[in-house]
Amino acid sequence: MQAPWDYPDFDDHEVVHFVTDRASGLCAVIAIHSTHLGPAGGGVRFWHYAEPGDAVRDALRLSRGMSFKNAMAGLPLGGGKAVILADSERSKTPEMLAAYGRAVEGLNGRYVTAEDVGMSVADMVALSKHTSHVAGLPVAEGSVGGDPGPHTSYGVFLGVKAAVKRALGKDSLAGVHLALQGAGSVASGLARRAAAEGARITLTDIDRGRAEALAAEVGGEAVAPEAIMTLEADVLSPNALGAILTEESIAALRVPVVAGGANNQLATPADGQRIHQRGILYAPDYVINAGGIINVSTEYLKDGDQQTVRGRIEQIPVRLEQIWAESAATGRNPAEVADSMAMRLIGR
Ligand code: NAD
Repeated sequence: MQAPWDYPDFDDHEVVHFVTDRASGLCAVIAIHSTHLGPAGGGVRFWHYAEPGDAVRDALRLSRGMSFKNAMAGLPLGGGKAVILADSERSKTPEMLAAYGRAVEGLNGRYVTAEDVGMSVADMVALSKHTSHVAGLPVAEGSVGGDPGPHTSYGVFLGVKAAVKRALGKDSLAGVHLALQGAGSVASGLARRAAAEGARITLTDIDRGRAEALAAEVGGEAVAPEAIMTLEADVLSPNALGAILTEESIAALRVPVVAGGANNQLATPADGQRIHQRGILYAPDYVINAGGIINVSTEYLKDGDQQTVRGRIEQIPVRLEQIWAESAATGRNPAEVADSMAMRLIGR
């Protein structure tokens, strides 16, 4: 395994912790990219990696991504991320969670953990017995916190509207054709809001039943997964997987706008340039999908109520506008503009 600073994603991480606990079998990486704006906030992923080096790479890449996302969302949070290296059966034990919770507590609030792939709300409750530096806990109806999905959907909806306004000059989604990839938590909230405004929706999911149920609910049409990326529409909204915007897929797009909540949509930085060169307006993913972290941050820092969360999410289209305006003025692509704005915000 190479040293952390030899990884391309190291990018001057403040600190990278390797945690092992023999008794429980816990093996984890806690990567803290930046605490310039506040405690490093980011989820913990529970995943089986073929090589330990893959886990380190994932933690570094995701941690840096959280610095950018939190900074661009205007939050008083830095960026960090943890991964727990699971075995091939992905067996998770209470002892392992307890050891991870103690490790987070040992960082004295420099890193705040939350859900990510493979971790549930119940796991956060288990962690909260060992550390106070955990968010994403269940909350009472009407208070801040809980499921980030609906908040992410709201931000994506506002971001899609801003993109439609900029690219097509329309103030509403009435009659606008959205091609939605995914029919899960984020996509379904977006579909409901867009349909209520009169959008025409074509959607897909590898779970055919889920796609058909959502299509029926919003008066849209479900298509096969392979059809969505080449559909002629006004907006492609990726809300399923990452790395879907590649040299090949970008060449085949038939939309003027790509705006959706999926993380890491661009397969490589060069794809940010490719999509721009095709004249397609792109909403940088970590800017448009910040609604969930805004909610989590407000829960953890206890610095606002539901109105505060809403107000912060409503800044997402404002931030996107700034990015697109700077992109238009400088000729740099929006993904690159967003990265450099984020770097400035975290003092780099
Ligand atoms: P989810 O699991 O609820 O939904 C994802 C859906 O995508 C599932 O229904 C799945 O079947 C479908 N899917 C997977 N592969 C597909 C494919 N190849 N083609 C079509 N559909 C496919 O997840 P979610 O919470 O809605 O998150 C969606 C995306 O948004 C993810 O990339 C996630 O990282 C990102 N995101 C989510 C949040 C949040 O608050 N939930 C916040 C920020 C970013």
